[in-house]
Amino acid sequence: MTIQTKSIEAILDRALAGADLSPQEGLMLLQQTEPEQIEIIRQAADRLRQQQVGDTVTYVINRNINFTNICEQHCSFCAFRRDEGEVGAYWLGAAQILEKTADAVQRGATEICMQGGLHPGAKHNGQSLSYYLKLIKTIKEQFPHLHLHAFSPQEVQFIAREDNLSYAQVIFALREAGVDSMPGTAAEVLDDQVRQVLCPEKIDTATWLKIVGTAHEQGLPTTSTMLSGHIETPAQQIHHFNLLRSLQQRALEQGYPGITEFILLPFVGQLAPKSLRRRVGRDQPVLADALLLTAVARIFLGRWIVNHQPSWVKLGLSGAIEALTWGCNDIGGTLMEEHITTMAGAQGGTCMQVETLKLAIANLGRPARQRNTLYQFC
Ligand code: SF4
Repeated sequence: MTIQTKSIEAILDRALAGADLSPQEGLMLLQQTEPEQIEIIRQAADRLRQQQVGDTVTYVINRNINFTNICEQHCSFCAFRRDEGEVGAYWLGAAQILEKTADAVQRGATEICMQGGLHPGAKHNGQSLSYYLKLIKTIKEQFPHLHLHAFSPQEVQFIAREDNLSYAQVIFALREAGVDSMPGTAAEVLDDQVRQVLCPEKIDTATWLKIVGTAHEQGLPTTSTMLSGHIETPAQQIHHFNLLRSLQQRALEQGYPGITEFILLPFVGQLAPKSLRRRVGRDQPVLADALLLTAVARIFLGRWIVNHQPSWVKLGLSGAIEALTWGCNDIGGTLMEEHITTMAGAQGGTCMQVETLKLAIANLGRPARQRNTLYQFC
């Protein structure tokens, strides 16, 4: 056994005994390249998953509704956005949103996940917030029991800026109107150097943390995400995990609902804007990199954020199922329609049938169970 393997085993033993790893230890795990060491990292992540959440693989029946792709920003990874009037630009009206929601409910959905581009024209009575409240009302008036997982921290900042409100005021109003939880999207990588290249117009790291922390303070649970596999370094990946862990620790110490899950979103560049695509140098995620990062996420975060989900849209169903043996315990949602990654060239599809998910989980020899957005069994 090499000295390197011995020290990796010592780090993993500490994690298995319930210790939080330091960023240096996390980085050491991420930097492993030898198959033998990567396999012991995978095994540790799988054991921790088993200890922390058991063998059941959960899924949620949900529908994505991206109400518009008209967006004022120009993130370098985004193939979804359009300018107003551009070919392919769309903006859904209330009737279309309601029709999609009714169809989702008929197909057993317990959740609508709603996010959209940052459209300065999306106003009602001259106010951005009023427009978003109207979106919520459209769904909640007819389907009050449907869980509305809606509006990213970036959208909260957009509304606050447009209407000259504080983040707390915006989140309060969204929550009062019927938003039940906030997607932890727009996090990309929580490192301002990376953000300068990926999404220079987006909120910075501190603002993302502030808005998500404010949501927790107001009793609104969030998810958490990371867009991986582009220009970021392993040190920046671990820094991102460390910020999420601290945010969650603060939320739980205060008795706030905090973060319900971590979702790894490997970068798909096939139809992304050319400059980033050229810089990254490939179109589809490298599965081996995504799996190692999945395992380290479980080892580093799992004590605090117990639910970990791969993205079948980005990795394909077979890649996502494999991730269930690298620390994940949830296969995500049926989505029913997915535009953002599919428009970037993802090959995983846009909709997943429950039976397909259940069969794939059964082939792994693990039980499958439907959950709601907050990880309560249905
Ligand atoms: S990622 Fe979101 S904010 Fe960025 S350009 Fe695309 S739609 Fe706009």
